[in-house]
Amino acid sequence: MMNSDAIWGLVEAKRAVFFDLSDRVWDTPETNYAEHAAAEAHAAVLDAEGFRVARGMAGMPTAVMGEAGQGGPVIAILGEFDALPGLSQVAGLAEERPIVAGGNGHGCGHNLLGAGALMAATAVKDYLAAHGLAGRVRYYGCPAEEGGSSKGFMVRAGLFDDVDIAISWHPAPFAGVNNPVSLACNEIDFHFSGRAAHASATPHLGRSALDAVELMNVGVNYLREHMPSSARIHYAITDAGGHAPNVVQARASVRHLVRARSLPELHALSARVRAVAEGAAMMTGTAVTSQIVSGDANLVGNTPLETLMHRHLERLGPPAFDAADRATAEAFQKTFTTEDIASAFERFGLKLRRGVALCDTIFPPESGAGTLVGSTDVGTVSWVVPTVQMRGATYAIGTPGHSWQLVAQGKLPAAHRGMEHAAKVMAATALDLIADPALIAAAKADHAARLDGTPFVNPIPDDVDPPLPVKSNA
Ligand SMILES: [Zn+2]
Repeated sequence: MMNSDAIWGLVEAKRAVFFDLSDRVWDTPETNYAEHAAAEAHAAVLDAEGFRVARGMAGMPTAVMGEAGQGGPVIAILGEFDALPGLSQVAGLAEERPIVAGGNGHGCGHNLLGAGALMAATAVKDYLAAHGLAGRVRYYGCPAEEGGSSKGFMVRAGLFDDVDIAISWHPAPFAGVNNPVSLACNEIDFHFSGRAAHASATPHLGRSALDAVELMNVGVNYLREHMPSSARIHYAITDAGGHAPNVVQARASVRHLVRARSLPELHALSARVRAVAEGAAMMTGTAVTSQIVSGDANLVGNTPLETLMHRHLERLGPPAFDAADRATAEAFQKTFTTEDIASAFERFGLKLRRGVALCDTIFPPESGAGTLVGSTDVGTVSWVVPTVQMRGATYAIGTPGHSWQLVAQGKLPAAHRGMEHAAKVMAATALDLIADPALIAAAKADHAARLDGTPFVNPIPDDVDPPLPVKSNA
């Protein structure tokens, strides 16, 4: 713990570099494996800071990695930099106004997530160099968190095989150690093929793939009653077979997103969904093939790591927001519903406090226990390496996720302060781990005990490639 003040000074010293990196990534919002400008911006900072840089790992052109230090344990700090479609918004404005109609926007704060993680990794590198400590810090620039599961592909490629501990964070309304509840998930495409026919003259010769899709969905809807209540299944018909009702549809496709509390539960539920698809094919005389598109494991928590990170949060206190930050956050809160604000407190297990626009406290580690959220590809890392994540307070309490309000707040001074705050906590946590092998041993023992011998089956099978954007010839 004694090294914290020194490393916090190292984080502050490079403030300008990383606030600028975050703002530049905000300015070029790119989605799902097309984050070329963002990845290059991160690689350029890694180069300039003297990291040993790798690009395009695991078959993903927008993945980037940098390592510094020699010998000792390997600490991974995970960053992301992808945006979301349809959320273009003018920075700082508490009123919905796109910069580009229908354009992308940083609606999940990943501009801050990537820059903050790299800010922490850089401070650790600087500390190791200044003090001649053995240890390696590695920044993982992970593309396509929003549905692309890049970390799962990195795990499959062995990029975490020599890592001792992984650390990450996510922008949020409150600061604290993230309660690690997320659902394992698999996105699976089902393609049915039948036989086209004149729907009126020779209907008996047709075999409808669209009928099969409809029956599969009916079957899955009946399955819901007999699956764990924490599981989720969502679907979208991605190809209804055309728009001519007088042709029996020879081809149709549906995408199912299956979510479950744990990896073994996910694999079992996905097998049942596949059986329903085969049943629908049998009923309709069609054939079906399925293909996994992406998948994440559930998050595995780690008590020793969460305790360590929480101690640093307590010592540092909440981010130092000022009166101007609070006034701006209040202006944004006027665009939220009272439910938005109440549910933000509720999700973090906190009592509703009116008139509090920005985080002013550190939430306890057990807060919000059992609150089910979505899925994250950090989950897959957490199955193979003891992993800890914190929430960093970067925006007004009640800001809806994936919203124009979240995009608008991504370049504010409060966002920068929240990012620097998270970087300090991550850097101090990494440093303690490098300096004290007993902490790493305790984290590994906790990890082994939680998994209790459960075999890791990557939700991304060996034959699936990263879903890279299709290059057009235009
Ligand atoms: Zn996110």
